[in-house]
Amino acid sequence: MPPKPTAPASPVPFLDLRKFTRWAEETATYIEVTFDMNRFPWMELGQFELFTDNKTGVWRFSSYLSKATDFEHDSSKIVVFELVGARLDMVHGGQVVIDGYIKTPESSYDRFNVPAADFDPYKNATKCATCKGEDKHLITDYIPKHNAELAALMGGRRITIRTGPRYKDDE
Ligand SMILES: [Zn+2]
Repeated sequence: MPPKPTAPASPVPFLDLRKFTRWAEETATYIEVTFDMNRFPWMELGQFELFTDNKTGVWRFSSYLSKATDFEHDSSKIVVFELVGARLDMVHGGQVVIDGYIKTPESSYDRFNVPAADFDPYKNATKCATCKGEDKHLITDYIPKHNAELAALMGGRRITIRTGPRYKDDE
């Protein structure tokens, strides 16, 4: 018997950002990346934002870090990267599917602030001394560092973003 075909190993580390992102209990977002016609899971998180200035065709994807701001009280982010060719693929049953291509960063000034799989944004966090009670929060870096190594792997790759309410049946 010929050997069974096996799924190729994923070329990209999977990032589970659910415990770091806002609204992860209410919102389920999955991102897949395509390598050689195969889709691999890349990231899972809660809330995200996707904005364009409508001039450059560049869309900025970002997700807020839960319960944290930077030292100036700007909301911290756990992931930021840019997309080109973003396209609404489908809306179905409360799910929105968007695809696009990771913009290859031309320099470290471009945004590809995607953490490593073992990154802990709270590791060097401090408690805000002024905000108390319901407003209490941590103070962290504003965004993770530019990830040049992962940017080189991911630049130009097609990704598919699926987002919607997290139903009780979801694992
Ligand atoms: Zn504060």
